[in-house]
Parts: sequence; C-alpha cells; structure tokens
Amino acid sequence: MTADTDARIARLLHHRKAGLALGEPVTPPISVATTFHLPEAQGAAYYYGRSGQPTWDAVEAQLAILEDAEVVSFPSGMAAITAALVSCLKAGAKVMLPSDGYYVTRLLGRDLLQVYGVEVIQLPTREMETADFTGFQVIYIETPSNPGLDVVDIVTLARKARAAGALLIADNTTMTPLLQRPLDLGADLVVAADTKAPAGHSDALFGHVAGRDANLMARIREWRRQSGSVPGPFEAYLVHRGLETLEVRLTRMCASAATIAGRLAAHRKVKGVRYPGLPGDPSYQAVGGQMVNGGFLIGFELAGEAEAETFLARCPLIEQATSFGGVHTAAERRSRWGDAVADGFIRLSVGVEPVETLWAAIENALPG
Ligand SMILES: *Cc1c(COP(=O)(O)O)cnc(C)c1O
Repeated sequence: MTADTDARIARLLHHRKAGLALGEPVTPPISVATTFHLPEAQGAAYYYGRSGQPTWDAVEAQLAILEDAEVVSFPSGMAAITAALVSCLKAGAKVMLPSDGYYVTRLLGRDLLQVYGVEVIQLPTREMETADFTGFQVIYIETPSNPGLDVVDIVTLARKARAAGALLIADNTTMTPLLQRPLDLGADLVVAADTKAPAGHSDALFGHVAGRDANLMARIREWRRQSGSVPGPFEAYLVHRGLETLEVRLTRMCASAATIAGRLAAHRKVKGVRYPGLPGDPSYQAVGGQMVNGGFLIGFELAGEAEAETFLARCPLIEQATSFGGVHTAAERRSRWGDAVADGFIRLSVGVEPVETLWAAIENALPG
C-alpha cells in the first residue's frame, strides 16, 4: 500500500473519534429508526429513514475517506450501478458497456436501459482503448473485468471520454479503493459492490457510488430517495465493521493469490492461468501502475467441464459458490452462467486461509 493509502486506512479506523461525546459508543449504533424527532421541519440532521440515517452516514464516512470523494450507499452493487447509469443517461443517449463484464450489468442494459430508449453498445474490455467514443454519453468500464481479468488503461479512457463529452463510470469491485483509484485516474464515478471484499464475510449485500462532482452526486442521492433503493441499517453496520479489516484481509488474500497463481501456472494439469500479477499475463502492465497488485482473483482452466467439477467437489478448502472477496476461498466454473469462457474455466477467489495449507488442498484436488 502507498503512504497515502496507509494514512487513509488509519483515518478510517478513527473516523468517529472527533465526533464522540463523553460516554458515547466507539462503534456506530445500528440505528433502526424510520422517524426522527421533528417538532420543526427545518434544521434536523435526519427527518425520515428513506432520506438519510446515522448508520448509513457512518459507513459512507469510511468509504468517503477511502475514495477521497462523496459517497452514496446502496442496498447492493446492482442498486449502485443502476443509480449511476440512470442518473447519467436519458432516452436517446448512448452507453458503452463491457461485453465481458459483470453479467447482470449487461442484463440491466438490455432489459432496463434499452427499454427506456437508451442505446446500449457492448464491446470487449480489451477493445475499448481503441474504440471510437463519438456520440456516447457514458463509457462504462470494469477493470480488471469479471471473470476474464482483462484490463483497460483508465487514464487513456478518461481522456478519450472527456474529449468525446462522455462520462466515465468505473466498476471497481474487483479491486476496491485500496488497490485501484479510478477517480484519481480521471473517472467521473466509481461504482462498487461492497458485498464482496469490503463486507468480506459473505453476509451482507451492499454497494456504493463515489464521485467528486457535487451536482452529479446530488442527482444520485436524489435517485436513492425517489426510487427507494435504500440500504438496511444492519447491512450498513456489517460493512462498517468489514471495512475496518479490509486492508488486513486484502494483504493476505492478494499475497496468497500471487503465490497460488504462480504455482498453478507452473503445474502440468493446469492451463490458461489468468492473474494480472503474473509476469507475462496480458493484464500485467496495469500492476504497479493503475493497480497496486494483482488482486485476489485467479482464472484458470482445467482439461474440461468434468475435470473442473471434480476439482471443485474434491477440494475441502474451496466453497463452491458464486461471488468472491470473502474470507473463505471460493470458486466456480463460470461457463455455467453463460460467460464466454471455456467449459473448464474456473474463477478462484482466494480467501484468508494460511497459504501453504490452502495450496496443499488445491494441489491434492487437481484431477488426473
Ligand atoms: C457482484 C458484482 C456486482 C453486483 O453486486 P451485488 O451486490 O451482487 O448487486 C457488480 N459488479 C461486479 C464486478 C460484481 O462482481
């Protein structure tokens, strides 16, 4: 982590201190109130739970420190993505989405945006750097993409988008603001699923939008109020708690992923290893530049569907589950969801198990 990031992590851990009165709790209370004492209409910090409430504020304050930006929280990553896209687009506008990005974002493009008169163009992540942005209002990127782990250069895309008069929205879920900072690199908005590594324990759905344009962020906040797409206070609390250990977990997860990716790449039963932190990987140029490290996700291929399923069923330290970023190592065969990858392609999300124990379990489970 950089010195700036270290300072942000320390600030995050103590963010409530300055506002605490004598005897108040150090951790934020889970505030479940929907109504607030309001003898007058003006001047209260909160008035109704759909518009704002204290537990959201606690987690948004942490995320704002990490993002160096204004943050609006949402009940899921998809709710955040919807808020960002709806707030930046209207009928007749054109948006570019990654054809190799998160599956449900593409469905949203087809079943919501397109139905409401937005033109949706899909392009593979790797072709976006050379694409023509003329006529687009929004360029939407996911880097590294999920599950293929291809990258685009955010600075280049931000420059091209600005020249074309388009906004650049970056889904930063796979990296988190500790490992990649799209707003610093010129993106207009960051969207993220805090369901993944930030919550980190596979027990809370949550998302956020971050941005530095006050007008745009006001529209996104207003979308939350009008659509009613509001996070629950329990989830806000869990994400607040998760964020306090995010850096510790990521440090272990990313170091283990680098070790395991290297060993998988050298293993005779494994082919097609994708890990941005591996020298020679097509995404390697982004590591040390826009990415702090290669992250905790690995893609690799076994001989076929049967071999991949055998491996997943045999390995005692892999949860067979979709999603990623949790403390438990998890994996699945992505083609079962229709992703354009080989039948034997596995996405592995490395957890916090001690690495040699984890590697031994993985190696023993490789079939054939
Ligand atoms: C999981 C995920 C989402 C959606 O987040 P939810 O909290 O499940 O709605 C969006 N983008 C990416 C890259 C994801 O991995």
